[in-house]
Amino acid sequence: MSRDISRKDWIEQRIKPDEYRKYLDQGQSFIDDKFLQRIVADDSQPDPLQVRDILQKSLEIESLTEEETAVLTRVQDPDLLATMEATALKVKKKVYDNRIVTFAPLYLNNICVNNCLYCGFRTANQQVDRKILSSRQIRDETRVLAGEIGHKRLIVVYGEAPETDIDYMEESIETIYSVKVPVRNGEGRIRRVNLNAPPLQKRELERLKTVGIGTYQVFQETYHAETYHRVHPGGTLKNDYLWRLYSMHRAYEAGVDDFGLGVLFGLYDWRYELLGLVSHARELEEKFGVGPHTISFPRLEPALGAKIVENSKYRLADSEFKRLITVLRLAVPYTGLIITARESAALRDQVIELGCTQADASTKLGIGGYSYDEAAQSKAKQQFIIGDTRSLDSLVRSLIKRGYIVSFCTAGYRCGRTGESIMKLLKTGKEGEYCKLNAVLTFREWLDDFASEETRVLGERLIQKEISRIKQQLPEIYSRFQEYYSKTVDGKRDLFL
Ligand code: SF4
Repeated sequence: MSRDISRKDWIEQRIKPDEYRKYLDQGQSFIDDKFLQRIVADDSQPDPLQVRDILQKSLEIESLTEEETAVLTRVQDPDLLATMEATALKVKKKVYDNRIVTFAPLYLNNICVNNCLYCGFRTANQQVDRKILSSRQIRDETRVLAGEIGHKRLIVVYGEAPETDIDYMEESIETIYSVKVPVRNGEGRIRRVNLNAPPLQKRELERLKTVGIGTYQVFQETYHAETYHRVHPGGTLKNDYLWRLYSMHRAYEAGVDDFGLGVLFGLYDWRYELLGLVSHARELEEKFGVGPHTISFPRLEPALGAKIVENSKYRLADSEFKRLITVLRLAVPYTGLIITARESAALRDQVIELGCTQADASTKLGIGGYSYDEAAQSKAKQQFIIGDTRSLDSLVRSLIKRGYIVSFCTAGYRCGRTGESIMKLLKTGKEGEYCKLNAVLTFREWLDDFASEETRVLGERLIQKEISRIKQQLPEIYSRFQEYYSKTVDGKRDLFL
């Protein structure tokens, strides 16, 4: 633990410029500002034939270039727009079929050395009660998440501070994995811990790989360097744009090949940010053969004492947000798109039809908010305010009614389906096959162990339809699947193909 060195020394030792300089091309990063600005500035209406060619490329699960992506942001013709949305849904179905993955965020602390102008947790904010969860409190939180709600997958969120450095991260993840709670059949436990964390050094990422993390998320917040430096003031760790930008490069070197990218939309022009994400995905694909497993697109939301939020001229209207999601689905067709509970239930339901594949539920953002008193949910302990307060049971029921299977599958990283191997499966639609089988098995588990009676009955009907489809579409694996399914119905847990 770095607690024996001063805060100042800790901060000074964090950034290792040699770990990113080697990737620069004559001092330049893969974000080509002039190029992106030029294509964002083009406001000509695209030729419909060109748009249809681009859509065909997406349908073949090929990533789009920045120019092709920009063309899709400029379409105004209503018929063409409707075709784009329908194609986005086809692309999603081809890669992910009718599965939605759910998870819960778990905020472990709200201490941070940074001073991001849009964030309630920033160091200069005196109105925040600072808190770090102890091992006992992490166990309490996990017991509720895994034992009462039924989550299998978490995204744990850390601020950047010496008190919550790599030692704390390692301990907290091990603690989460160690918790087992008796449920209706067997035990509930978290099977996959994804991380939303600050940029880490290569040797730290190697340690996290050993602990068994799922996706490593670092959001760039904004790809526009000038805005980045304005909202992340000088003298803070986060002010170093390149250290953050090359987080995934270090992760890959450390053996972590499951990447999560993201932008905080509303800090700068959404078209530029979208192209930044596309450039980032293309860079990772070209360098390592592995694109982002997920992309997140939170919108700037009111946060305690953060005036910049109300004053930002780049905040996205719902119509722009929907266009963003449609185009992202088409531009990076293989990736998982995460729609968080920052957004309202109604809007989340709509954008799932445009290409989103993952949604959190039963979300509490207060530090200790799952297991402790309601006061933990007070604004003073939250990073932002949530819009969708539905329970997991309620979200699952609403998805079932629209024909979606909710997947609690965490098999991918545990049987080596990450990195290059998952990229191939995603691009050829093969991942959808494995995942469909595992989705049904884990959905069945969840219905039996956690669902309300109403949700269970609806879910069972949907499962029967899915089993008939599996029998027709995957005859070669059907008997093995049936064997696993019968064992699951009999109470056996955590079976996957
Ligand atoms: S956004 Fe993250 S890094 Fe910035 S102040 Fe908030 S918690 Fe810290």
